[in-house]
Amino acid sequence: MPELPEVETVRAKLAPVLTGRRFDSVEIADARLVRPYEPAEVAAELTGEQVAAVERRGKYLIVRFESGRALLIHLRMTGSLRAAGANGLEDDAHRRAVVRLDNGSDVAYRDVRRFGTWLLLEPGELDEYLASRLGEEPFDALFTTARLGERLRKRRAPIKAALLDQRTLAGMGNIYVDEALWRARIHPLRPAESLDRNELRRLHRAIRAALEHGIARQGSTLRDYRLPDGGEGGMQHEFKVYGRGDEPCDRCGTPIAKSRVGGRGTWFCPACQPERPAAAQAASKSSSRPSRSRRQSSV
Ligand SMILES: [Zn+2]
Repeated sequence: MPELPEVETVRAKLAPVLTGRRFDSVEIADARLVRPYEPAEVAAELTGEQVAAVERRGKYLIVRFESGRALLIHLRMTGSLRAAGANGLEDDAHRRAVVRLDNGSDVAYRDVRRFGTWLLLEPGELDEYLASRLGEEPFDALFTTARLGERLRKRRAPIKAALLDQRTLAGMGNIYVDEALWRARIHPLRPAESLDRNELRRLHRAIRAALEHGIARQGSTLRDYRLPDGGEGGMQHEFKVYGRGDEPCDRCGTPIAKSRVGGRGTWFCPACQPERPAAAQAASKSSSRPSRSRRQSSV
């Protein structure tokens, strides 16, 4: 499923294709894409709209129109957008929608599993729609270590499940949560509320680093994710843990373990990411020796 790095890559590639262009005609071939609305009605509403900007929030792609309306696209599991090349669009049994732009070129939406959604919002509706569903953007200045700590406070759920919850933080999914937890050396089953300040700091840094790495590699193509020009991402070749069961950990050589957390396949290093971290044990043991724990926490 496309996560923040994949959607951001799509956004960056689509923005120059769409910005300033008008939707000359729109064809929506799958009622699931826009339900509960009628495909023909939505297509008619979109026709004539001029694109002001292409933005992203969490895993949502936002096409903002000059009219103040916005088309909110969620790719879910297998959605992808394709800008036609010089020879037009190739045949595709999984094409669900096509937008013809005022310069004569086409942008197509493809979706094998058909979980993706297009939602046309009226002026003023977007912020409220997103605010009720999403936490902070990971690269926003508002997303600080302290904010992350607030979001995780009093939550006994495993840290992995808490990070998958889009209201904790927008944009993380199964891949980048596993990657970030490995970087932060935190076991995916640790109760979210149990992370100490150092761990929160490490996790905050790790989330941004894992996502930045994903964006730099233009996302990960495992099955259906494609760039709008048909190319593939490269992040799948550089995963530290995701999908790497039994392969040696890059940091310590221990075979990567696979487990399930909240029904999701989960990979981690059992040595680097202990379920009961030694730091916590040492901290409780050394509580009578504050000088030592102070030195440790400053590292
Ligand atoms: Zn390791």
